[in-house]
Amino acid sequence: MTTGIIGGGLTGLTLANLIEDCELLEKNGECGGLCRSLTEDGFTFDYSGSHIIFSKDREVLNFILARLGDNVVRCRRNTKILYKGRYVKYPFENGLSELPLRDRLACVSGYIIAGLHKNDHADNFKQWLYNNFGRGIADKYLIPYNEKIWHYSTAEMCTSWVDGRIPRPPLTDVLKSALGVPTEGYTHQLYFYYPERGGINALIHALERECNGKILRGFEVRSLYRDHNSWIVSSGHEEREYDTIIATQPVFSIVDALEREEVPSDVKAAAHRLKYNSLITVMLGLDTEHLNDLSWLYIPDRDCLAHRVAFPSNYSKEVAPPGKSSIIAEITYNIGDAIDRMQDEALIARTINDLHTKRIIDKEQVCFATLRRTKFAYVVYDLDYDRNMRLINNFLTKMNIHTLGRFAEFRYLNMDACVRNAMDFVRRQSNSLSW
Ligand SMILES: Cc1cc2nc3c(=O)[nH]c(=O)nc-3n(C[C@H](O)[C@H](O)[C@H](O)COP(=O)(O)OP(=O)(O)OC[C@H]3O[C@@H](n4cnc5c(N)ncnc54)[C@H](O)[C@@H]3O)c2cc1C
Repeated sequence: MTTGIIGGGLTGLTLANLIEDCELLEKNGECGGLCRSLTEDGFTFDYSGSHIIFSKDREVLNFILARLGDNVVRCRRNTKILYKGRYVKYPFENGLSELPLRDRLACVSGYIIAGLHKNDHADNFKQWLYNNFGRGIADKYLIPYNEKIWHYSTAEMCTSWVDGRIPRPPLTDVLKSALGVPTEGYTHQLYFYYPERGGINALIHALERECNGKILRGFEVRSLYRDHNSWIVSSGHEEREYDTIIATQPVFSIVDALEREEVPSDVKAAAHRLKYNSLITVMLGLDTEHLNDLSWLYIPDRDCLAHRVAFPSNYSKEVAPPGKSSIIAEITYNIGDAIDRMQDEALIARTINDLHTKRIIDKEQVCFATLRRTKFAYVVYDLDYDRNMRLINNFLTKMNIHTLGRFAEFRYLNMDACVRNAMDFVRRQSNSLSW
């Protein structure tokens, strides 16, 4: 029985590795989706945003690392938040001693008060942040930073995604951190891996090498319909026939492709109401060997366009020419907004200026600059998210279309979760002996 996999990102390629009788259709000339990298003038950048490899899931981590073989480095996270000109340890609640005294007091007292009035009910993400971290930490960092990265009001976001993703630190850690006793948060990410050469795309190439003859590039799936017991997949020029479909492209594009299957109007409407944001990466090369020791830096301030700046040459020296350093500045936006309307040159100039003003770089040292735009970057969990997804998923289940991956499942999935979901899916299917 032949399976058609739509999309050659990490999810599609993992599936193609695990399923023997399958074909993968990728719309672009290159696979990789969000895990693509570019190499120019000796610099290698992950151009849909800086990627690191980490996971609590040993099986998944082993699967990824086995693909990379010896092309991997292990790094200890050294991440900061730029707050009022100070470099505060990440996560913020573990770096409170680095705050001005009054801010420290507001954060600790806010945290204790929130704990005393323990409220498990939150109508929205903003309220959830107040309930779990208190007014100080929420108002000073979590709300400004989250509103910047999501490009969305936290009061208009739901909470169905936060559990397990934003852990509430124990009170003793908050107290220790305010008093200057070192503590670590998000320990599952304290050490991370990265390909030594080739950026995150090295993982994609490794997966592709194991998919001999199964990948069809340059095939954009535009329509998908049933013919007796088969699925016909069409690009408009060419058709393929499969017994089973696994779709990893964005869910609204799956719904649109099913036009001939009479999609109910409420499902279509729900798919088009889903919210996401897009990403601009400004990638800079710097004429200095040692810029800093940071892995990445969070910037909640609104006077700087980027919300996060990563330093890939601190993960692996091989991604920059000898004697040089590299930076990826990430800026979220919505299609059609003021940021989207800015020309590439203006965005690059503005970012260099922002980073210079914040003393992150010296603009005289910039020796390379380029920019990329990624349309689908982050799923935004708005207040209608659960209702919309229920309608869509019920319909796709009825159609027997399997959706896997970040934008097909329409969930905030990191690489490890994509690999896990692909592995679990294949395991479930082989247990049910459907192929
Ligand atoms: C800024 C940013 C930083 C990130 N950092 C990390 C990190 O540090 N660590 C981590 O673990 N994860 C990170 N992630 C998440 C990670 O990128 C994703 O979880 C993963 O790459 C998703 O893979 P995917 O295959 O599900 O989707 P995608 O990568 O989106 O792949 C979908 C594929 O489908 C193809 N496609 C779309 N439509 C069609 C069509 N009609 N026909 C055929 N093909 C089609 C696309 O071209 C694409 O190749 C980050 C994500 C972003 C946005």
